[in-house]
Amino acid sequence: MLSPALYAIPSVKTQSLAGEERAVPLNEQIAGTFGYGALTAPPPRGRGPLRERPAVVAIVDYEGGARFPADQDSFLAEYFDTSATTAGAVLKRMGAPLRHVGGGTMPPIVQMSTAERALPEPQRVDLVAHRLVHDVFGPTLFMENLDLIVICFDNFSPDGGANRVGHVTVGIGPHAGAQLSITIAFFALAASLRTRLHEVLHSLGGIDVYGHDGNRNYRHSIMSSGAPGGDRETVLPDPWHRLAWQLTAPDIWEVAGYLHGMASFEVGLRAASNGAYPALLLWDAGHSATECLIVELRDNASTHDGLAVDSGVAPGFVLWLLSVDAAGIPVLRSAAPAEGNDRAILTVGSPELELGGWDPWVPAPGSVSVSTPQLRWLDDSPTGFSLTMTLDEAGAYASGTLRFEPFIEFAKAPVRLPLGGVP
Ligand SMILES: [Zn+2]
Repeated sequence: MLSPALYAIPSVKTQSLAGEERAVPLNEQIAGTFGYGALTAPPPRGRGPLRERPAVVAIVDYEGGARFPADQDSFLAEYFDTSATTAGAVLKRMGAPLRHVGGGTMPPIVQMSTAERALPEPQRVDLVAHRLVHDVFGPTLFMENLDLIVICFDNFSPDGGANRVGHVTVGIGPHAGAQLSITIAFFALAASLRTRLHEVLHSLGGIDVYGHDGNRNYRHSIMSSGAPGGDRETVLPDPWHRLAWQLTAPDIWEVAGYLHGMASFEVGLRAASNGAYPALLLWDAGHSATECLIVELRDNASTHDGLAVDSGVAPGFVLWLLSVDAAGIPVLRSAAPAEGNDRAILTVGSPELELGGWDPWVPAPGSVSVSTPQLRWLDDSPTGFSLTMTLDEAGAYASGTLRFEPFIEFAKAPVRLPLGGVP
């Protein structure tokens, strides 16, 4: 168990049966249950606090492949710039800046042979790691920088990316015989910003959420599959990843009391803006201590310091179902017989409640409100409530209101909870 200091969130709201609001300070147990800080714990579970990260950049030019631009020095300078064209820039906007190991000098270029180009992936990854340790940086750099981010531009694929672990046995020097494992974000020079950011975020502990068919949560999480668009397009992480990286400390509403009392409530929602990434967590402990519904408002016009942060999102109200294991990580869930697994952080799509569906909840033309049918949990049991979401008069998707509407036929007995949340 992590120390409570790591779970320092401002406050968590709950609601009593009588309807008066009380503030429960630092309700770290509930947020922690759902993964708050799960990826900021020390390795191996997380990758340490989001802060400035030393980054190593390598360029691998496989002989016989496409050539890198002649101005690769300026290309790399741009990579660490604040322009909107790089994953490094987006990380800066998310509070995780990259710092070039060596203080700004351009990294060496590692040349590969034609024969090496033909190697299968595991050997190729190990080879790159070996070159970095033995020919370029030396083993000490890697042994002393557990949080090191290694970014490898290569031309092995036309426009793809991958994140792989290379394994190296140090052959020379005082550390001879030591075993090193180096996590490397690979991408082709032509890879989109979105792909680059996705691969670098794997190095920070991010997990794929594109699910059994490769297309779940499409356009609503950087850790899902790619969206069409230019190099500058990106999307925010899903709310579980934002919890896990401590970018989002959601208000938590315990809804069991509302179901019993048949009271509805309204609460405001805002889209991301200038480093704030809000979300609302609805939790019915009478259903499950480890499952919840998350509601957020996503706006493709969201900015941070004037830079777009969610330009590739399909805007609207986005509902998510989240189910976590004891470590706060989304569980693997069978999608359907023989269809494979989904991570249980899944959008609830409009209008059919499709899990991982592409369509957010948006008002019909001429309207400012949209309502769900009664929502369902991951096991398809009824939640006992629906939601009506309304955009502010200002229009667009910057802010709105969520109205919680319970159904009497699914009212449950009140659940007594210890002060502070989960038992
Ligand atoms: Zn991935």
